[in-house]
Amino acid sequence: MPRDAHSISRKQISENALKVLYRLNKSGFQAYLVGGGVRDLLLGLEPKDFDVVTNATPEEIKKLFRNCRVVGRRFRLAHIVFGRDVIEVATFRGHHGDSNEKISKANAEGRLLRDNVYGEIDEDAERRDFTVNALYYDISDYSIRSYGGGMEDLKAGTLRLIGDPETRYREDPVRMLRAVRFATKLSMTIDEVTAKPIKQLAPLLKDIPAARMYEEVLKLFFAGKAMANFEMMQEYKLFAPLFPQVDAQLKDAPKGPAMKMVQAIMKSTDARVNEDKPVTPSFFYAAILWYPLRQRAEDIAVESGLTLYDAFFAAMGDVIEQQCQTISIPRRFSTPAKDIWQLQLRFDRSQGTRAFKLLEHPKFRAAYDLLLLRGEVEGGNVAKSAAWWQQFVEADETERMNIARSGNKAAGNRNRNSPQRRRRRPSAAKAKAAE
Ligand code: ATP
Ligand code: MG
Repeated sequence: MPRDAHSISRKQISENALKVLYRLNKSGFQAYLVGGGVRDLLLGLEPKDFDVVTNATPEEIKKLFRNCRVVGRRFRLAHIVFGRDVIEVATFRGHHGDSNEKISKANAEGRLLRDNVYGEIDEDAERRDFTVNALYYDISDYSIRSYGGGMEDLKAGTLRLIGDPETRYREDPVRMLRAVRFATKLSMTIDEVTAKPIKQLAPLLKDIPAARMYEEVLKLFFAGKAMANFEMMQEYKLFAPLFPQVDAQLKDAPKGPAMKMVQAIMKSTDARVNEDKPVTPSFFYAAILWYPLRQRAEDIAVESGLTLYDAFFAAMGDVIEQQCQTISIPRRFSTPAKDIWQLQLRFDRSQGTRAFKLLEHPKFRAAYDLLLLRGEVEGGNVAKSAAWWQQFVEADETERMNIARSGNKAAGNRNRNSPQRRRRRPSAAKAKAAE
C-alpha cells in the first residue's frame, strides 16, 4: 500500500523511533515500524510504543547505536535507549527448521523456549501473532506492507491468529491472553477459528514463567479495560490458571464476596485509570486476594488451634507465596499489600488516639480504600465500620476529636467477620481497682 493510499504520516511517529529507522536504513539495512504502532495509528489510536524490525542482527544493531543494549534470551532484542524512552528493535524471525538448540528450542507441549532463528520479512510476518499485528511501515518509501490479510482484518475488526491456532497457542500460550486484551482494547471480535481452541488450552498458562505473567497481568488490568478483560477471561477460562486461589472461591460461590470483590476492584481500577489517577499492584493484589486470605486464615486456625488473629498473619505469607507460583509479585508490592491487610484488623480497634495514629500510617489511604470496598461487598458491620471511618477521614480536626472519642461502634461489637486479637487479661492495676 503506497504512501498516498494510507493515513500514516511521519508526524505521528515518535522522533526517537524515526531516528532509529533512518539510521538503520542509511546504513544499508531494511527498517520497518511494525506491530501495535502501525495498527494503532491506522485505527486512529495513540500507540503505546513503537517497535522496529530490521534485517540487521542484534550485533550489527549494537555497532550502529552507542545507546544500545541487547536483551532477552527466549527472544533476543536490541533496546535503543533515549533517556526514559526505549525503542525495541527486533531482527526478522525465521522458521524453525532443524537448527541447533542454542537458537531454537521447544518443550514437550510445543512451547518455544528459544526463538532466535533469523529470516526475511515474509517469514517474520508468519511468526507474528495476529494478522493485524503483521503490518509493516517501510521507512524507505513510507508504504505499508500487510501480510495474511492484516489490512482487511483491521478494517473488519477481526482478530485472526496467523497459522494454525492450536499450534500457535502451544508455541506461546500468552497469545490467548493477548487475544482477549486486543479484543477489548481495539473493540475487535476474535475470529471463530482463532477462538475455538482457547477454552481447552487455557490450562497451558500455568507453565508460563511467573515473571512474564506479572507483566501480562499489568497490561490486562492496568490499562482501563480491567472489567472487560476479566469478563472475557472468565468466558474463555483464562482467569482460573492465573488466580487459582481466587478461582476456587468463585467456583464455590459464583455470586459470593470473592466475586463481588473481583468486580469491585476491576471497576475501581478502570475508573482510576480513566481519570489518570495512579494505580498500584499492591492495592490490586491486596484486594483480589482478601477473601482467599480470610479463608486461609480460618483454615489455619481450625487446623492448628491458633487464634484467628495469629492465623491471619501466617496466612498472609501463604497466600502471597501461592499467588507467586503463577504471577511473581515483586516484593516492593507484596510487602505493602501485607501492610494493607494488617491495617484491616486495626480498623476495628480504633477508639480515641488509635484512630489518629492509623491515619498517619503510610499505607492508610490504600487500606482505607480496601475497607470501603469490603463495606460495599459485605454490608453489615463492615459497611458500618467503613462509614465510621469515612466520617472520620472527611471531618475537620475538631470534629475528628469528637468522632474518635465516640469510637467505632460497629467494630466495637466484636464483628464476627473479622479476626480479633485475643482479649487481653485485665491488667493487675485494673484488677486491683475493681476489687
Ligand atoms: P501493545 O504494545 O499495544 O500492547 P503490540 O501489538 O505492540 O501491542 P507488543 O507486545 O508491543 O504488542 O509486541 C509488538 C509486536 O510483536 C506485536 O504486534 C506482534 O507482531 C509481535 N508479538 C508480540 N508478542 C508476540 C507473541 N507472543 N507471539 C507472536 N508475536 C508477538
Ligand atoms: Mg507494542
